Amino acid sequence: MQQNQPRTRRFALAALLAPALAFVAACATPPPPMAAVHQRGVVRADTDAEAAHFRGLVADLQPRVIDGLPGTVDRDTEVWVQDELRHRVGPPAPENVKGYTLIGPDRRRGRIHVRADTEHPEWFLAHELVHALVGPNWQPLPGVMEEGLCDALAAQLNPHLAPRIRALRAIEASMFFGRMRLVLEHDDPRSPKELEIWFHYESGALGSDVDELLAYDTLELKQRFARVPDALYGLGFVLATRIAERGGLATLYSLCREAERQGESVVPADWLLTAAGLDDSEDQARAPYELIGPAELSEWVALLPGFHANLLVQLFHGAHRHTSAAQFLDRVNPRIVLADGTRVRFADLPGLRADLQQRWSVPNAR
Ligand SMILES: [Zn+2]
Repeated sequence: MQQNQPRTRRFALAALLAPALAFVAACATPPPPMAAVHQRGVVRADTDAEAAHFRGLVADLQPRVIDGLPGTVDRDTEVWVQDELRHRVGPPAPENVKGYTLIGPDRRRGRIHVRADTEHPEWFLAHELVHALVGPNWQPLPGVMEEGLCDALAAQLNPHLAPRIRALRAIEASMFFGRMRLVLEHDDPRSPKELEIWFHYESGALGSDVDELLAYDTLELKQRFARVPDALYGLGFVLATRIAERGGLATLYSLCREAERQGESVVPADWLLTAAGLDDSEDQARAPYELIGPAELSEWVALLPGFHANLLVQLFHGAHRHTSAAQFLDRVNPRIVLADGTRVRFADLPGLRADLQQRWSVPNAR
């Protein structure tokens, strides 16, 4: 018995060691092999060229995020550029997730992960840099609003992408409210000259309980949703952008400070809605439409191909089926009336003529 003891111990140690190694392997993904250092951190990627490209973007954006927001922490960052987003072994994040920032249980912000193949890396990097650099005084900001803050600043720092960001988030916000407003004008004497249309989404609406969804802070939001629904990115962006238009993004910071003074764990929803000029629930559903200007309209057409042509088919084909699509566009001249009163002719929307031609002759094939 005694003689066997050392051997038993060795076995016991080996048995302990194997699960320990397995634990390490299950927890961590090794960093991408190539590193590019900049003044305030490091970018890691699979190739030198990729690391250098993203280093240039981060080195440009990071100080601008610090300058653009109060209450940020001027610290070093670490960015991993990956073909598939992951920070631990297991399935990678879905392809439509463009990036994320690790947040510890103590709410400390950690490493940034971004996809290597994104079309607009400067958008997603700016967004993640906000997550990574907001300081502890921002903690009372609801998680939905933090997503909105990230995109609102990303749009400010990348004006060439602002119409795309605004259009996408307006569509998503309208999904949150379950409907999207559009005003249409035309020269057909047989129907009212101006049509106000509300598109209803059959699914995707999360209900209109804005108060409940704004009650989670960032960590709680991530615990509530394994993947935060797109509609909430839209809601956060609409609110943050409207607040920025009224008093600057720093207003959100002042609200966080005030919440802390008053002992509120998160900024109350009614403070946010008031700051956004959206006290009335009917106004809230109108808000996505108010984000759409001419440039955003073109992006909307690109984001949802066929949507605007289908709309014309549904509204007008019955009464005009004996005319061609081209004749219909010239005679009836449908226009979209934007929130600021600008009129945009459907015929001038990119690709609309060809798209309508195709759907007009075979209206059911859509
Ligand atoms: Zn985010």
